[in-house]
Amino acid sequence: MWYFYSTNLSMTMGNISSILEQSSFSHSDLEQLLQYEGDEKLLLFRKGGDVKEMFVGNKVYFRGLIEFSNVCDKDCYYCGIRRSNLSVRRYNLTDSEILDAARFADENKFGSVVLQSGENSSQTFADRIGNLITQIKQLSNGRLGITLSVGEQTELVYRRWFEAGAHRYLLRIETTNPLLYRKIHPNDRLHNFSNRLDCLHSLKAIGYQTGTGVMIGLPFQTVSDLANDLLFFQQFGIDMVGMGPYIEHSETPLYAFRHELLPIQERFDLSLKMIAVLRILMKDINIAAATALQAIDPLGREKGIKVGANIIMPNITPGLYRNDYSLYENKPCVDEEPAQCKGCLDARIALANGEIGYGEWGDSIHFVNSKKKG
Ligand code: SF4
Repeated sequence: MWYFYSTNLSMTMGNISSILEQSSFSHSDLEQLLQYEGDEKLLLFRKGGDVKEMFVGNKVYFRGLIEFSNVCDKDCYYCGIRRSNLSVRRYNLTDSEILDAARFADENKFGSVVLQSGENSSQTFADRIGNLITQIKQLSNGRLGITLSVGEQTELVYRRWFEAGAHRYLLRIETTNPLLYRKIHPNDRLHNFSNRLDCLHSLKAIGYQTGTGVMIGLPFQTVSDLANDLLFFQQFGIDMVGMGPYIEHSETPLYAFRHELLPIQERFDLSLKMIAVLRILMKDINIAAATALQAIDPLGREKGIKVGANIIMPNITPGLYRNDYSLYENKPCVDEEPAQCKGCLDARIALANGEIGYGEWGDSIHFVNSKKKG
């Protein structure tokens, strides 16, 4: 069952307009915004798009996503590549395959790459990532920005990678409710909510542009949880957010609770509302239109761009391996090669009235502004 507060049917356009004009938002404002439907919802979406235009412009920045390995030490209950899923074909790209993908990103003026993999805290892994960062910087003459998305590591390792040239880090908190976190992860040392939070604080202190995100529409999640997630992003002063609908995977323990879920279309809609509300709440951050949106609606990412997102992460992992990085099922574009993927995105962004910021890093304005304030 989805634990929504009952929607007050007397909500009017007047209500939403007055909330949207506020300069700060309470938990209850956010809950209300997330529950609007019909014309009010469309007004919310329009406002999200307008705020984006005004504060970060209509450019959409690319982050070429290289999912270089699906080997993971962890066992998150929602994830298709969790350690205990023995039916996954595990892969690990060679360094030269990763560097080829980075070269493709540089030649096609993607501006940045994201190195993403399952979690691994070994010294060999830390050394490998450090070397890859150096080599990617070299092959692109410093042109490519580097985002890392390789999970929880020690502060020492984060610092070392930062010094090697990575400047953004994505570590999704998945939910900011510790009790819900406990329900969707094993209860052990490897899956500890406070460790994850500590990692986010370390990343910020080191100087990374720090990104996080949550899953939307998880079993047991309430609209109050989502409002708290938004307030967490604001209080933390996050620079980037990537969040999308929870999509169940049949080879995971959480699949047993699929009868608790909102219908998939409602999860999609709620994700768009989260993007629009977040844009209104944190006007100058970077927000990614998650690929999971496209898994539900073929125009999902474009819709995300229209309501407030400004980042897209085209998958430039060699097509051969794409199908094996399935955190959720029905992942889109798994059969395309990177060049096809790029051609497709050019047309898609134009459809969403966006302009691609080719060759630009597209750093978070929020990050730049907070640096200036010291
Ligand atoms: S969500 Fe990430 S850390 Fe958890 S099992 Fe999947 S790849 Fe590993």
